Amino acid sequence: MLVIEEAARAERTHFRDELVRQGLLVATGVAGLFGYNEEFEDTVGRVDRQVTALGQADHPEVMRFPPTISRACIERSGYLESFPHFAGAVRSFDGDARAHRSLLRRVEEEQDWSAGFAPTDVVLTPAACYPVYDALTGTLPDEGRLVDVMSYCFRHEPSDDPARLQTFRMHEHVRLGDETAIRTWHASWLTRAQGFASDLGLDARAVVASDPFFGRAGQLLAASQRDQRLKLEIVAPIASAGCPTAIISLNCHQDHFGKSFGIQTADGSPAHTACVGFGLERIALALYSRHGFRRSAWPRHICGVLGL
Ligand SMILES: [Zn+2]
Repeated sequence: MLVIEEAARAERTHFRDELVRQGLLVATGVAGLFGYNEEFEDTVGRVDRQVTALGQADHPEVMRFPPTISRACIERSGYLESFPHFAGAVRSFDGDARAHRSLLRRVEEEQDWSAGFAPTDVVLTPAACYPVYDALTGTLPDEGRLVDVMSYCFRHEPSDDPARLQTFRMHEHVRLGDETAIRTWHASWLTRAQGFASDLGLDARAVVASDPFFGRAGQLLAASQRDQRLKLEIVAPIASAGCPTAIISLNCHQDHFGKSFGIQTADGSPAHTACVGFGLERIALALYSRHGFRRSAWPRHICGVLGL
């Protein structure tokens, strides 16, 4: 097992170093945090537009939020119960002139300078769909709501795997409504998501998955999530051929967010919700992994899909 893990680790760092050498990723010195060159950013943009196009026939409302949400929103969402280890809170300096001098001295001496920073009203967005639930508190129309949302998200998960970023873009289609409508919608996206990956020539497959919940109680939540098939993932090889990575996730939350955010259906019961999230950098990385670092040499039909 250790040998397999070592081999996968070597594959990941090799792929990461090659992406940096090719100029597609720009290293920052922090694990899981990269800049992108013009071409990589263009590829991400093309994938993003494909995700928009995939849901366009359903005429979703489009919402865009900055990569921070209110402290109140993350408290209501239940994220701190389930994923405290991934959360990132924004703090800011609020001291006087003396505290400022102390701050600069600590920076100069390369000591921890964060003590002078107080909590702010915002935290980093953990998932693109969270601000949507916060915005839709109240009663839904009879047909429910459907929202197209894209945001930078943060997950404190430093890794040598270039497909496991700390800050990444997630483009989601989010559906809110009654239980039957949500189950039907969630199931209908499996074929669509598989078709999307197949059109891009990715060696992808669907798997039943679970979220990386925190602690021992989290293991029970994960088992229940798998038993009920509430989370499905489309996985594809990115940095390691033997350990594919999720590029699309299809999540059914039942009435969790309906209850947490006070969202009701027209008959007054808590709304059910589901979302389908596309990891934009991951899909772009999967394309380079599958078709090679020279984008100009990608197969013609793939270029056609991406409008290249
Ligand atoms: Zn979501």
